Amino acid sequence: MENTEVDKTNCKIIKEGQAEILVLEKNVFYNPVQEFNRDLSVAVLNLFAKEKHQELTDKENKKSSTIEKDEKENLQEQPESQNGIRILEALSATGLRSIRYAKEVPHVKQIIANDISEKAVESIKKNILHNKVENLITPSHEDATMVMYESRKNRFDAVDLDPYGCPSIFLDGAVQSVSNGGLLLVTATDMAVLAGNSPETCYVKYGAVSLKSKCCHEMALRILLQHISSHAGRYGRYIVPQLSISVDFYIRVFVRVYSGQIKCKNNTSNLGMIYQCKGCESMTTQPLGIKKGNAYRLPTGPPVDQICKYCKNHKHHIGGPIWLGQLHDKLFVQSLVDSIDDMKLGTQKRLEGVLNVVLEELDTPLYYALDRVMSIVRCDTPAMVKFRSALLNAGYQVSYSHANKISIKTDAPNDIIWDIVRAWEKLHPAKRDRLEKTSAALGILETESTKEISFDLHPLANPESRKMHLSRFQLNPTANWGPGARSTTMIDSNTVLSKTKKNQNKNFNKRERNNSNEKQEIENISTDDFQPSKKEKIDNII
Ligand SMILES: [Zn+2]
Repeated sequence: MENTEVDKTNCKIIKEGQAEILVLEKNVFYNPVQEFNRDLSVAVLNLFAKEKHQELTDKENKKSSTIEKDEKENLQEQPESQNGIRILEALSATGLRSIRYAKEVPHVKQIIANDISEKAVESIKKNILHNKVENLITPSHEDATMVMYESRKNRFDAVDLDPYGCPSIFLDGAVQSVSNGGLLLVTATDMAVLAGNSPETCYVKYGAVSLKSKCCHEMALRILLQHISSHAGRYGRYIVPQLSISVDFYIRVFVRVYSGQIKCKNNTSNLGMIYQCKGCESMTTQPLGIKKGNAYRLPTGPPVDQICKYCKNHKHHIGGPIWLGQLHDKLFVQSLVDSIDDMKLGTQKRLEGVLNVVLEELDTPLYYALDRVMSIVRCDTPAMVKFRSALLNAGYQVSYSHANKISIKTDAPNDIIWDIVRAWEKLHPAKRDRLEKTSAALGILETESTKEISFDLHPLANPESRKMHLSRFQLNPTANWGPGARSTTMIDSNTVLSKTKKNQNKNFNKRERNNSNEKQEIENISTDDFQPSKKEKIDNII
C-alpha cells in the first residue's frame, strides 16, 4: 500500500455516488441496475451507523462517569472509543460498495473488503488508493466464509452479502460474525428458484418449498428471511427484519441480529406453511406454532378443507415454511425516508417512491394480483381504486405491496375477496356458457355471496404515495434490464475465478446445465407484469 501511484493504463473510470472505480476498458462490467441496491444500502447503513454511534457514545459516557480517572485514560486508548462501526463486505469484487460506504457512511471505523479472487483484490487495492480511503478500507484475499468464521470473537457491526445467485452458503458464517444488534445485508438474485420454477431446488438451497404465484416476489423475501432466521436460531440468535425489498431481478433484506435463546422460541410462530388452491389460487397460511402470552402451543390443522371451499373443485399445493412475521420495521423505514432527503443519491427519486409504498404496506403476509384474481373468473378487471374501495367499504384494510403495482394486500379473508369479485361480475358478466363445469371460475361464480359489496369511492382508496405522484413502481428502463452477465469480478473474464463457481453449489450440475434457461426465466419473472400488451391493460387498471 506504500505505492500511492495508481496505474490507470487501459482503465475506464466509472463514477457512482462519491466513489470512482477503475475498470479495464476492454472488459467493463458495471451493472447500473445495482446502483439502486447500493444507494439503498448506503442509506440504511447511514442510519444504522448514526444509531450505533449514539449508542456507543451514551454507553461510554455512562461508563466514564462511574470509573476512576486512570481507568478512563486507558479506555480512551482503546480503538473502541472511536465509536465507529466495523463493516465486512464479504464478496467485494471491485470494492465499489465498500468505497461508497467509506465515503458516504458516517462513523465508520473499518471496512474489510474481501474477495476470493486475487485479481479482484488487486482491483480493490487499486480502487482504494484511487479513492484515497486506505485509512478506512482493509482489502482481504480470503474465502468469505473463513473471514466470517475467524471473526466470531471479534464480530462486525454490519455484514454485507451480495452474491450473484444464492447467498445460502455464506449465511452460517454471517449470522455468527455479526455483533449483537448488528446488521446483516443480504441479496439473492436466483429469483427463478425462489419464485417457484424449481421448488425442489429451492428446498435444497433455502430449506423451503416455493410456489408459483403472483406474489412470488414477496414469497421470495419470506423464504430468504425464514432461511436466515433458521441459521441464526442454531446459535441462539434471532432476527428482526428492518427492510425487505424486491426490485428488478433481485431481493435484498436488511435484518438486525440479536442473541437470546428465549426469543428464538418465537421462530415457530413467525414461520408457517402456505396452502394455495390449484384452481382459484386462494392462499391460506398455517403458522408452525402459536404463542399465547409466554406459552407456546402446537397449532391444529390443516387450515383448509381437502377441496377448496372457495372454488369447490380443486385441491391445494403446500409451500413453505415461509417467514410470516413483519417484513419491515416501520419506524426504521420512516427514519430512512426522512434521512434520504439530505443525501445525494443517484436513485433518490425511486428510493423515495419505493420506501413510501413500503411505509403504507400492511403487515399481512402475501397479496393477490388484481388482474390474476379477475382472470380466474374470466371477467374484466376493475380499476384498482374500485376494488380497494370495495374492501375498505366492507370494513377491511388494503394496501399495495412495493413488489407489484397491481397488488391487493389486505386483512380481508378470502371469502370477502371472492364476494367482491362476484359483485363485480354481476355488473360485468363473464361468459359463463364458455366455462367448464369443473372450472374454478364457475365454482366461484356459483357460490352465494355473504356480504353486500359497495364499489363507491372510499376516501382511503387512493394512497398518499400515489397522490404525491411518487415514482412508486419503476418500469424496466431498457429492453435488456436484468442481472446482466455473471460477475467475474469485472477485471479479466478469461482468468478470474468466476463468482458463479464461488457462490453456487458445484454438485448441482444438472441445474448448472439449465442455467442458460434461468436467465430467461428470471427476466420473464421480473418483466412479467410489464410486457407491452399487458402493460397497456395494467395502465387502465391502476
Ligand atoms: Zn380454489
